[in-house]
Amino acid sequence: GVFSPWNGPITQAARSVAPALMRGTAVVAKPAEQTPISGVEMAKVALECGVPAGVFNVVPGYGETAGAALVAHPLVRKVVFTGSVETGRLVALGCAQKLIPVTLELGGKSPHIIFADADLDAAAKGAWIGITINSGQTCSAGSRLLVQRDCHDQVVDRLRAHCAATTVGAGMDDPAMGPLVSAEQKQRVEYYLELARAEGATVELGGIGTADGPCFQRPALILNATNAMRAAREEIFGPVLTVIPFDTEEDAICIANDSDYGLVGGIWTRDLGRAHRVAARLEVGQVYVNEFWAGGVETAFGGVKNSGYGREKGIAGAMAYSWLKTVTIRIAP
Ligand code: NAD
Repeated sequence: GVFSPWNGPITQAARSVAPALMRGTAVVAKPAEQTPISGVEMAKVALECGVPAGVFNVVPGYGETAGAALVAHPLVRKVVFTGSVETGRLVALGCAQKLIPVTLELGGKSPHIIFADADLDAAAKGAWIGITINSGQTCSAGSRLLVQRDCHDQVVDRLRAHCAATTVGAGMDDPAMGPLVSAEQKQRVEYYLELARAEGATVELGGIGTADGPCFQRPALILNATNAMRAAREEIFGPVLTVIPFDTEEDAICIANDSDYGLVGGIWTRDLGRAHRVAARLEVGQVYVNEFWAGGVETAFGGVKNSGYGREKGIAGAMAYSWLKTVTIRIAP
C-alpha cells in the first residue's frame, strides 16, 4: 500500500512504486484527494509500458475511507506512507495492529546553515531555492535558515534581492513560483505570517507578477526570528523563510537539532573539516554541503524524529520491499 501526498504526486508515488515492482511486489497506490489524476495517469503509463494489469493499481479516494481501508486490508503486507505527521501516526497504528512494516516519510522544518566563511552569493541563492521550489510546499524545504551573525546582514541583503525578484504566476507562464495547492493552504501561510508578527519577528514580502487569486502567495522572509517561535518550529509549507542568527558552530548545531523534526540539513562553508563535523552531528536523514537537494534515485532518503523512519530510494529503499531470509542446507552426512 503506497500513500502519497499532493505536493509531489508523481515523484513521491514513483519512488515507492518503482522499487516495489522491481522486487516483484504488487502495489495498490492511494493518491492524495487533491491530486488523484496524476496517480491514475501513472497507472495508465505503466500499463502502456508493459506492467501486467493488476500489478500496479491506483485507488483514488479520501484518506479516512479509501486510505484507512487500504491500511486495514489483509493482503497489504507493507505500507509506505508519505504525508503529514498526524496521518502518519494513524497509519502507523493501523500497521501496528496488523504487525506489518511501515515506512513513514513525514514533514520537516529543516535547518539550512550558512557560516561566515561560505561563498555568500552561492549560499543565499541556495537558501532561496531551498524555500521557493514548489512554492515552498516541499517536505525537505530548508525552512529554517541559520545564519552566522558575522555575515547575517550580508546574507539578508542578498535574500531581500532574491525575494523581491521572485516571479509569481500561473504555471504555464513559467514563473519562479506557481500557486499554492489550494486557498486553504494560502490561509495557512497567512496565519503563520501573522503569528510571526505577533511573536515579535519582522515579515517582509517580495515577489513580482500579476498573478491574483486565492491561491497565489508572495514569498516572505521572517527576520529577527528565534528558534522558539512557532514559525520556526512548525511546518508552514509555503514560500516562507525564517531567518535565525547564531554565533558559534556549537550554537548552530544546538539550534538545528532543537526541533521535533529531522528530515534534511544544509551546510554552507569553505571549511571541509567543519562540514564533516556539523554533518555528523545534525539529527537529520540527509545533509547537503554547499548545495541543496543533491542526489536522485540513487541516494537514500528519509527522516528521524517526527520526520518518520525507514528509507526510500537507493539500496536501502529497494531493501524495504524484501526481507532477509536465512536458509541453511546440510550437504554432508
Ligand atoms: P496528509 O497526511 O494529509 O495525506 C497524505 C496521504 O494520506 C493522502 O493520500 C491522504 O488521502 C491519506 N490519508 C489521510 N488520512 C488517512 C487515513 N486515516 N488513513 C490512511 N490514509 C490517509 O498529507 P498531505 O497534506 O497530503 O501532504 C503534506 C505533508 O506531506 C507535509 O507534512 C509534508 O511535509 C509531507 N511530505 C513528506 C515527504 C517526505 O518524503 N518526508 C514528502 C512529501 C510530503
